[in-house]
Amino acid sequence: MAVSDFRRLREKMVKEQIEARGIKNPLVLQAMRKVPRHLFVDEALQVQAYNDHPLPIGYGQTISQPYIVALMSELLEPEPGLSVLEIGTGSGYQAAVLAEMGMKVYTVERIKNLYLQVSKRLRTLGYYNVKVKLDDGTLGWPENAPFERIIVTAGAPLVPEPLLEQLADPGILVIPVGENKRNQELLKITKTEGTLKKENLGKVMFVDLVGKYGW
Ligand code: SAH
Repeated sequence: MAVSDFRRLREKMVKEQIEARGIKNPLVLQAMRKVPRHLFVDEALQVQAYNDHPLPIGYGQTISQPYIVALMSELLEPEPGLSVLEIGTGSGYQAAVLAEMGMKVYTVERIKNLYLQVSKRLRTLGYYNVKVKLDDGTLGWPENAPFERIIVTAGAPLVPEPLLEQLADPGILVIPVGENKRNQELLKITKTEGTLKKENLGKVMFVDLVGKYGW
């Protein structure tokens, strides 16, 4: 398929899966239109990259469904220049969407091969405002804290305490949490003047967050 075919698929994805479901933030829509999602999956899966579902990226992990990436991005109330910590780099797609919106991205992945692959991919695509680290992301990234935004793209049993500590005030944390591994609730936690407010955005399904403050 040609570059223009992928661009057409991307446009259709934004219209039918993102705008049609109520995502309105212009920064999010623009980033979803721009980031070449097909370059974040295996060559054999590229034609499916803009379909309405997650896809395997190896090592038992997945790239999230486009709508979920857009929804979490919108919940973060993105603004250019804000620092954002992502836990669960995976394919690097969500990180690229955050970077495309002008945010300063720190992302942590625990699987070495994914980490190596993503570092190379983001460099090749010119996303230089993303720093990638190989580590247990449930510990956060204390050297660069606090973060004005934190996004966790794997399902956690509880909200990891270090992430709450490393969230700036004011700040927003978006995370799927569930006692059951296959069934989480998407939470938006807002920190303002030392107090935390929690909103529940409904059911989602993510792969496991594995680590000291994870499964
Ligand atoms: N945001 C990704 C999708 C994430 S899939 C994307 O856009 O493609 C979830 C990822 O979280 C997997 O790659 C998994 O290895 C990673 N992960 C799970 N537990 C983790 C932890 N404690 N620290 C960092 N990464 C973790």
